[in-house]
Amino acid sequence: MSRVAVIGAGYVGLTTGACLADLGNNVIVVDINREKVSQLQRGRVPFYEPGLNELVERNVKARRLTFTTSYDEAVPGAEYAIIAVSTPEGEGGEADLSFVESAASSIADAMDGPLVVVNKSTVPPLTGDMVSRVLGSRNSKHRADVVSNPEFLREGSAIQDFMHPDRVVIGSHDRAAAEKVALLYEPLDAHILITPNIYTAEMVKYASNAFLAARISFINEIARISERVGADAKLVAEGMGLDKRIGPSYLDVGLGYGGSCFPKDVKALAALAERFDYHPELLHAVMDINRDQRMLVIDKLRDCLEELNDRVIGLLGLAFKPNTDDLREAPSLDIARVLLAAGAQVRGYDPAAMEGARVKLPDVEYSRDAYGLADGADALVVVTEWNEFRQLDLGRVKASMRRPVIVDGRNIYDPEHMRGLGFTYRGIGRD
Ligand code: NAD
Repeated sequence: MSRVAVIGAGYVGLTTGACLADLGNNVIVVDINREKVSQLQRGRVPFYEPGLNELVERNVKARRLTFTTSYDEAVPGAEYAIIAVSTPEGEGGEADLSFVESAASSIADAMDGPLVVVNKSTVPPLTGDMVSRVLGSRNSKHRADVVSNPEFLREGSAIQDFMHPDRVVIGSHDRAAAEKVALLYEPLDAHILITPNIYTAEMVKYASNAFLAARISFINEIARISERVGADAKLVAEGMGLDKRIGPSYLDVGLGYGGSCFPKDVKALAALAERFDYHPELLHAVMDINRDQRMLVIDKLRDCLEELNDRVIGLLGLAFKPNTDDLREAPSLDIARVLLAAGAQVRGYDPAAMEGARVKLPDVEYSRDAYGLADGADALVVVTEWNEFRQLDLGRVKASMRRPVIVDGRNIYDPEHMRGLGFTYRGIGRD
């Protein structure tokens, strides 16, 4: 079993660290955020991810998993340093690599022997070379091989995705270093693809995210056409998905993609292409469609309520998707801000994301549950498709609303059933 330092205790770093510890490795997770580390040291996972609390607790108890703010505690003696720090949107849409660069500097200063430095953060091709340069320039005494090993886990099912990946992609200029990283995944029954140069592995991640985002924008464009010609886009997607060449995933008609990955990654890939003198038309269309998609609910609300000023509008769900408390690039943020600017009184409820929402959207009024949200409201908007919204007592909801208007941004309800209950119901792509 190996000694592993994981750099960054976010969704990816903490999941990676806890899972590698559970596979028997000795893992130290280092993060510069003192508050986060101190919470973890007290046994508290600082964000919501199903099953992660238990996994962390089990491995901390077994003394295979520890947390620190000090690279000098984490890196010396480690065989691997896995970088899992944030790569947010930077200037002009390019990825901001300053956290990766700073992690590489700190690793270089702390390493005391040969090390395999694994980049798990999502980064554009050529970043591995930058990390190599930083390591080499700050520490010429010890050999450091840089390997790209992008992460494909999804928030909400992070542990399952890490432990049962569709594939593990590993790329390095040094084959032996890539094979050493493959050893970490040996206990998993995973297809491992080793690419003979690091740029290819880096590109697989961007290409995968851009493709999934493109599927979402594609089906949302089909939804807009469907709405106009009287087709039901949800069933169109189902019909398409039954084709084995197409498959059903990422064909959900709705408010488009959000979150901490797709928006910034598509933008960063487009910016990278432009830097290399290529204008990626498809990627720009994907982004444009997605930007406009979330605003469809505003048009639908205007249509149903005549005006937005002084109307009480409840947002069912705030997180960018169900089973997470992540609000980064969530459609709810744009929708709430536009509604507030139009003079509406906006309420919100989310099973997991209320704490973060209170900070990001201080002018929204928060309800204890979906029924509180509905009480006296002029309209409800389904923004996030949490399962609990599928199981609401809709008769009770309708009885407490001032006007029974539901704009279903995720098509979770059956239009006929809703109209049968007396709602004015608008879905996406199937009015
Ligand atoms: P996150 O923001 O949740 O966590 C990043 C952590 O890194 C933070 O705790 C931060 O304090 C820490 N950090 C920043 N600079 C540091 C440094 N120099 N040294 C030590 N710690 C440092 O981010 P995340 O969602 O875990 O994403 C990390 C990377 O993985 C990003 O590149 C992201 O694109 C990619 N990714 C994310 C997901 C996802 O679903 N969240 C999935 C696949 C890939």
